[in-house]
Amino acid sequence: MTIKIEKKIKGYQVVKPDDKPVETPKAAAKPKSAGAEVIQMHESVERPEVLVGSTYKIKSPLFEHALYVTINDIVLNQGTPHEQRRPFEIFINSKNMDHFQWIVALTRIMSAVFRKGGDVTFLVEEMKAVFDPRGGYFKAGGVYMPSIVAEIGSVIEQHLKLIGMIKDPDISDSQRALMEEKRAAYEAGQKTAEDTDMPAAESAEGGAFPASASLCSKCNTKALVLMDNCQTCLNCGYSKCG
Ligand SMILES: [Zn+2]
Repeated sequence: MTIKIEKKIKGYQVVKPDDKPVETPKAAAKPKSAGAEVIQMHESVERPEVLVGSTYKIKSPLFEHALYVTINDIVLNQGTPHEQRRPFEIFINSKNMDHFQWIVALTRIMSAVFRKGGDVTFLVEEMKAVFDPRGGYFKAGGVYMPSIVAEIGSVIEQHLKLIGMIKDPDISDSQRALMEEKRAAYEAGQKTAEDTDMPAAESAEGGAFPASASLCSKCNTKALVLMDNCQTCLNCGYSKCG
C-alpha cells in the first residue's frame, strides 16, 4: 500500500517494537465505543494538572519538628465501573532539614513505585518493618512505632485504606464484635475492682486501651490484657491461648 504525502515532512521517528506498550495507554485514554478500554496505572499515564490529595501530620519524639506527608491521588476511568483511585505522588515537608536528602530520596522512589502501577501496598509492610536502632516510641493510643520510617509507612497505610486499596481482611465482623465484648467485659471488671480510680482517664482518651495493658506482638499496640488467665489483645483480638 502506498501513501501519498501531501504536506511537507517536518520530522520523522522510527517506530521500535518497544514503543508499542507506551502508546497503548494513551490510545486507551480516548473513550472508545464499547468501553472495553480500561486504563491501568502505568508510567506513561500523564499527570493531570490537578490532583486531589491528603496531608497527614506526623509528630514524633525523635524529630523536633513535625513532618507533613502529602499523598496525591489520580482517579482512573472516572465515571465508569472501572473507576479507581490510586496514589500518584508523595511529598514530605518539614522544618527539620537534618534528614532532608533521605526523605527526598524516599519520596521520589515511592512516587516512582506509585506510577509504575500494580500492587503498591507492599511499601507499607516494608516501611513498617524498619526499626530505628535508637529505639522507637509510643503514639497516643498505645501504638508502638519502631521508627519514623515505620510511621510514614503507617500513614501510607492509613491513606490506602481511605481510598480503598487496602482492606482489613484480618478482622471479620464477628471477631470485631467479640473484641468489643471482651473490652467491655474487661472494663466492667476493672470498674468493680478499682471503683472510680482510673476509668475516667481511660474513657477520656476515647479508644485508648487500659494503662496497664502490655504490648501486643501482633499489632504493636499496648492493648494486651489478662482475661480469664489468658493474654488477650483488645485491639486486634490476638490471644495467647488461641
Ligand atoms: Zn494486637
